[in-house]
Amino acid sequence: MTMELRCRVEDGTQALAADFASLAVEAGWHVQACDLCAGGCFPPRLRCPHCGSAKLRWTPVGEAATLVGVILVKGENPRHRPARALRRPEGYASGIVALDRWPDVRFPVLIEGEDAAIAEVGMRVRLGSTTVGSRQVPSGRPVPVR
Ligand SMILES: [Zn+2]
Repeated sequence: MTMELRCRVEDGTQALAADFASLAVEAGWHVQACDLCAGGCFPPRLRCPHCGSAKLRWTPVGEAATLVGVILVKGENPRHRPARALRRPEGYASGIVALDRWPDVRFPVLIEGEDAAIAEVGMRVRLGSTTVGSRQVPSGRPVPVR
């Protein structure tokens, strides 16, 4: 089932952030799509960055994406101390993906475990969800090359 809902732009950015968070829990990750120009965008906005329209709807990100940026975070130093839930010996990778469904939209992902060490730009990933502390965050798992 595809679930698409109007973006409550008239209620402001906090309503958009709340809708993004509740949709993530109830129906998975979503970005905004424009009714007028069919462009997509993330993070949530009050108006389409392509044409300025406020006629936006939530649309699922899909599962397929390509890693376009990634950094491995391992250990800590005086300038960077990861959140407690992310302090693991193997570290984690913070990534940005281009969505297959919305190639011009960038979306953040957390890459965990052994996958973090092998993550590299250009790698295909499957989007999912993982729990960090008490929050659900978008995750990416590398898709094995055949
Ligand atoms: Zn537009």
